Amino acid sequence: MSDKLQRLKAILNDVSDLDMTANLLEWDQSTYMPPGGGEARADHLATVRRLQHERLTGDEVGRLLEDIAQEGGLGEEDSDDACIVRVVKEDYERRRKVPASLVAELARHVSLAHGIWVRSRAESDFSLFQPALETMVELKRRQAEALGPSGCLYDALLHEFEPFMKTAQVKAVFDGLKAEIVPLVKAVGGAGDSVSDAVLRQRFDVGAQREFVVAVVRRLGFDFDRGRLDLTVHPFCTNMSPGDVRLTTRFDPEFLGTALFGTIHESGHGMYEQGIPPALRRTTLGTGASLGFHESQSRLWENILGRSRGFWRHFYPELQAAFPQLAPVGLETFYRAINIVRPSFIRVEADELTYSLHIMLRFELEQDLLDGRVRVADAPAAWNSKMQEYLGLTPPNDALGVLQDVHWSIGYIGYFPTYALGNILSVQLYEKAILDAPGIPAAVERGEFSPLLAWLREKIHRHGRKYPPAELIRRVTGGPLDSGPYVRYLKTKFGEIYSRPARSISSASGRGRSRPRSQ
Ligand code: ZN
Repeated sequence: MSDKLQRLKAILNDVSDLDMTANLLEWDQSTYMPPGGGEARADHLATVRRLQHERLTGDEVGRLLEDIAQEGGLGEEDSDDACIVRVVKEDYERRRKVPASLVAELARHVSLAHGIWVRSRAESDFSLFQPALETMVELKRRQAEALGPSGCLYDALLHEFEPFMKTAQVKAVFDGLKAEIVPLVKAVGGAGDSVSDAVLRQRFDVGAQREFVVAVVRRLGFDFDRGRLDLTVHPFCTNMSPGDVRLTTRFDPEFLGTALFGTIHESGHGMYEQGIPPALRRTTLGTGASLGFHESQSRLWENILGRSRGFWRHFYPELQAAFPQLAPVGLETFYRAINIVRPSFIRVEADELTYSLHIMLRFELEQDLLDGRVRVADAPAAWNSKMQEYLGLTPPNDALGVLQDVHWSIGYIGYFPTYALGNILSVQLYEKAILDAPGIPAAVERGEFSPLLAWLREKIHRHGRKYPPAELIRRVTGGPLDSGPYVRYLKTKFGEIYSRPARSISSASGRGRSRPRSQ
């Protein structure tokens, strides 16, 4: 390795170390830090993020990149070194456009705004959060303007989470999806109450819930020697290295679905990070390809597997043993309960069919806020009117509406589209996985998840952030992002669930037991 490349890598080590340090400070802020630590933590994060920014965008990196380009000799186009240099050049050129003072100002405000959002949401009072959100939108607008050039501010912010994806592309994908999903939701609504989730809405001991979800994600392949699980208001996954991946979750004593699917979801993110090879650690490439790719992993485990019959053929007897109130409930009733379609207020608890509608609402509102078409003060009203338009519901309060998600409080404007892109991609990837390894579905029914995890490791995880998302999709699936498989999956799955009357289901699968009275 040339001296220049070695020097560049040493700088990247610093950048990565500072990034991981900030991650740890943020994780601590969300989990264990007392409220009194908020002001000081904002200073800590502003300093670390500013140092990280200055290290990456310093003149030395520019000179080294030029020298390395002249030297050549980085090997094949897709060698680790060639990819590191290419990605760092992109990061360097892009980040240099943003002044360090703005980076620090943003980091400081993110840290403060998060605490304000927590209180505002707890009291369901948007007026508490409004000034912080006004500042946030203004700072993000300045960031987007600095990142330009583009006629579309949202493009610049979207790139932070889904590199090279354009707002217009997302809009085209969403328009196509909307045309397919809205009639499906209507058809399901017309099927009346043939599906009930009452069995999930009982008293479930939180300690037993924790024990069960930990056992499940351990079986899926999340390694607790290289990770842990804690409690937060809003579940997330972060990491300090592939050897230290932190999941968070939340428990609802009256509803089993929250922790069960929330934790499986986060473990999907976590297994992605645990699968990044040591060679990419401390290079700034040692993370997922994009947020859309990340979400494809979490949604694959949560939905395609976690809400499938095969998955529960293995796990359901264990769940019944952990929660005796489920003993009289047949597998098929449980399967239908976890797949109920019902327009609802909260995105993270939305069913697979209506989920993307929640995303489209946020995608449109974020652009309106950024471009000034909607004032922050009017965001709750704009939110509620879009909820009515998309889902036929009006939130009774802001906690169930505009205040529900953590994202805007931490500066993640432009992030939401990646959730829907991840859903689309998850089906494409799973279809390719079972084409390559047809034994996967049978293994899942036996509670063996290593064949699927091995495929994901080999095809996706081991590449980290080496390739642009669109190229990685092409390398894995042979084509571009395609919502066709996702739409077919939704039509098949929910067509089947909602075309069968509840009576025949219960007699076919109740194992001779009567259905619970609560249904
Ligand atoms: Zn996620």
